[in-house]
Amino acid sequence: MYRFLSLRFALPGLIGVFTILTISLSFYMSRSIVFDRVAEEQEIVVRDRLNSLQGVVSHFMKYHEYDYLRGMVSSISSETDLNYLAIVSKDDIVIAASKYTDQGKHWKQVSPAPDAELIEKIILRQTIDTYLYTDKKIIDGYSSLCVTGNDALLRADDCGFIFYQVDLGFHFDRAEASIYNGFLFVGLTFFAGIFLLLFFTGRLITRRVNHLVDTLKSYSDGDHNIRSATRGHDEISWLSTSINSLLDRIDKNQEQILEREHRLEGLFQSVLDAIVVIDDQGIIRRANRATEKMFGYTEDELAGHNVSILMPEPYKSEHDGYLKNYKVTGIRKVIGIKREVNGQRRDNTVFPIDISVSEMLIGSKKMYSGIIRDITERKDFERIMKNINDELLQSNKKLNEYATKDSLTNIYNRRSFDIRIDEELNRATRDKLPLSLLMCDIDYFKLYNDTYGHQEGDKCLYKVATVIKTFFQRGGEMVARYGGEEFAVILPNTDADRAKWLSELLIKAIHELGIAHSASKASDHITISIGVGTYNPTGHIPTSSSHLIRAADEGLYKAKANGRDRVETGATIE
Ligand code: GH3
Ligand code: MG
Ligand code: MG
Repeated sequence: MYRFLSLRFALPGLIGVFTILTISLSFYMSRSIVFDRVAEEQEIVVRDRLNSLQGVVSHFMKYHEYDYLRGMVSSISSETDLNYLAIVSKDDIVIAASKYTDQGKHWKQVSPAPDAELIEKIILRQTIDTYLYTDKKIIDGYSSLCVTGNDALLRADDCGFIFYQVDLGFHFDRAEASIYNGFLFVGLTFFAGIFLLLFFTGRLITRRVNHLVDTLKSYSDGDHNIRSATRGHDEISWLSTSINSLLDRIDKNQEQILEREHRLEGLFQSVLDAIVVIDDQGIIRRANRATEKMFGYTEDELAGHNVSILMPEPYKSEHDGYLKNYKVTGIRKVIGIKREVNGQRRDNTVFPIDISVSEMLIGSKKMYSGIIRDITERKDFERIMKNINDELLQSNKKLNEYATKDSLTNIYNRRSFDIRIDEELNRATRDKLPLSLLMCDIDYFKLYNDTYGHQEGDKCLYKVATVIKTFFQRGGEMVARYGGEEFAVILPNTDADRAKWLSELLIKAIHELGIAHSASKASDHITISIGVGTYNPTGHIPTSSSHLIRAADEGLYKAKANGRDRVETGATIE
C-alpha cells in the first residue's frame, strides 16, 4: 500500500499538477493581455492606414481615377488581416470595395453594413475616426473624404467616406499560436524535469526510504539482527544511522527489561507468601507458586477467575461489592491495610490468613496485588498461649489466696494480718482516728480437742472463724487467724468503748452458735474471751504494731484470768 502512495510518484505528481495549473493559468492570463495589446496595436494601424488612405483616395477621387482606386483596394485586400475595405463617393455609391460585387451599390446594401449614424457624424466633422466593437473581435474604421480647394467636385458639406474593417480573429489566432508554442515549450521542459525528478526521487529517496521501512518492518516482525544498510552523506543516511542506533538501544533496553522481568519473576515465585494479582474487576491475572501450595489450585486454574474463589463466605459474596465501592468512593477497607481474614482452599477447607493489598498502575490500568500469609500456626500458637495464660492467671489467683488466706478457716492468715495492721496504724495516725484491735481466743479449746477429737476441733475452729468474719464486714475491718485457736480483728475508726461493745455482741453470737463443750469450765458450750487494745493517735509517728498487740493480749489475759467468756480492755496507746 505504502508503495502505491510512494513519494517517488506523489512528489513529481504534485509538482506536475501544480505545473499544469500554473501554466494553464499563466496561459489564459497572458492570452488575455496579448489580445488586448493586439487590439490596441491594430487600432493604431487602422488609424494610420486610414490617414494615409484619406490623402491618397481624395487625390484620385478628385480626378475620377476610380480604376486606380479599385486596383489599390484590391491590392490592400490581399492583405490577410483586412476584413472589408470600401470607398464611397459623395453620391453614397461604393466606388471601390474589397468585395468586388459591392461596387456600384449604395453603401447601405453592402455587407458588413457600416454604422449610418457614425458615418453622418464623421462626414460632417470631416475627420478620421475609428470605432471599436465591444466584443473586441472586430475594428471598424471610418474616414471622411472631403475634397477641399478650388475644385468643387466634392464640397465640404458633401463628402464621401472610407469604411475599413479588420477582423482581429486572424491576429488573435497568430498571437495565441505563438503563446501556445511558448507555453508548450515551457510545459515540455517542465515535464521533462518532472520525469527526471521522478527518476532521481526514486533512486535517491523512495528506494532508500523503502529500504528503511523494510528494515523496521523486519525488525518489528522479530528479526532483531537486521539493520539498515543505507549509505551516503545526506539526511536519509543520517536517518538510517539514527534508526540503527535506535534499534541497538531498543535491543539493549529489551535485554535489560527481560533480565529485570526474570529477576522479578524469580522473586515472585520464590517468596514464601502467596501473591495474587487481580485487575480492577477482581479477576485473577497472576498467582505465584506459594499461592498454588497454599490454596491447592495451579496458576492456570486461577487465571481468569474472580479472586473470591479463594474466599469463604461472607467475604466471597461481599468482595465484588467492596471493589466497586472502593472504585466509586475511594474509601479503603482492605487496600494498604493489613487484615486478618479467612481463606478457602480448593478442598473447601477454611484457614486463617493475613492479607495486605496494594494498588498499582500498569499502563493506564489499575491492578491490585494481595500478599497472603497462612497464619494457621500462629493462630494455634496464640490459642495455646492464651490457654496457658488463663491457667497461669488462675494459678496465680490461687497462689495469692494461699499466701494471704488460712486454709482451714478461709479467713486472712497471720501474714496478711501483719501487713494490714501496719497499714491501718499508718492510716489512723494520718487521719487522727482511733484504731482498735481484738484478740479472740476460744476457751478451753485443748479440752475440746481432747473431748471431741482434733477433727471436730477443726470444724469448731471453722465455725467460730465464720461467725467472726460475718460479724465484722464494714469497710476496712479485718478478721485474721492469729495462731492456733486465736483470731485477731482490726477495727479502724473504733475507740475502746465501741470495741468493747462490739466484743460483747460477738461473745453473744458465739454463744448463740451453741457448739456443745461439755469439758468447758466456763459454759456447756463453746465460748470465747476477747482482749481489746486501742490506739488513739496524737502524734505524727504511728505506734508499733507490737505495742497494740501487747495491749490486746493484756486485755485477753485479764479476760482469761477473770473467768473467761468475756471481754477486757488492755492499755490504750497514744
Ligand atoms: P484457755 O482457755 O486458757 O485458752 O485454754 P486452752 O486450752 O484453749 O489453751 P491452750 O493454749 O492450753 O490450748 C490451745 C489448744 O488449741 C492447743 C491445741 O491443741 C489447740 N489447737 C491449736 N491449733 C489447733 C488446730 O488447728 N486444730 C485443733 N483441733 N486444735 C488446735
Ligand atoms: Mg490460745
Ligand atoms: Mg484457748
